[in-house]
Amino acid sequence: MSRPQKCRRVEFMPGVTYFKPAGVPLRDLEEVCMSIEEAEALRLKDLEGMEQEQGAEKMNISRPTFQRILASARQKIADAILNGKAIKIEGGNFQLIWRRFRCNHGHEWELDNPVSVIPERCPKCRRAGVQPVQAAGNRRGPNSGTMYGRKKEPGEQTMDAGIQGREGSADGA
Ligand SMILES: [Zn+2]
Repeated sequence: MSRPQKCRRVEFMPGVTYFKPAGVPLRDLEEVCMSIEEAEALRLKDLEGMEQEQGAEKMNISRPTFQRILASARQKIADAILNGKAIKIEGGNFQLIWRRFRCNHGHEWELDNPVSVIPERCPKCRRAGVQPVQAAGNRRGPNSGTMYGRKKEPGEQTMDAGIQGREGSADGA
């Protein structure tokens, strides 16, 4: 198949990219590697609740391709959870795009059409210093809302109990 691949668009980079089962030393673990676009398909379909058609459109790919990426992502998660493997999220073949921005002076705005280049100046105050704001939708994720100083919800802690980042205390286990 030499058909040129459509550029897969991704609006969300996961804040946590490594998950391991509690109580098992890293060296004894098998690892499944999930690509960034697999994580994005999962986010659109399973977190945002989009139809496949809609998710495919967001990522600028065909529906069968979206379905294939999604199926692969779910398969990897099932494999990791049921067979006790670690999950690493990295790499892939995609273009990161943004829809929402914020300037250093507190203005925030959203574009109708996402872009892959960060605007140089704020449209409101015309000053330089613009940063992208992560796509919403991952409201339960640890990464979401960090720019707004979101508080943890009660009970949220329990989710993290068995899932520890590589950087966390899990390493020496
Ligand atoms: Zn501004």
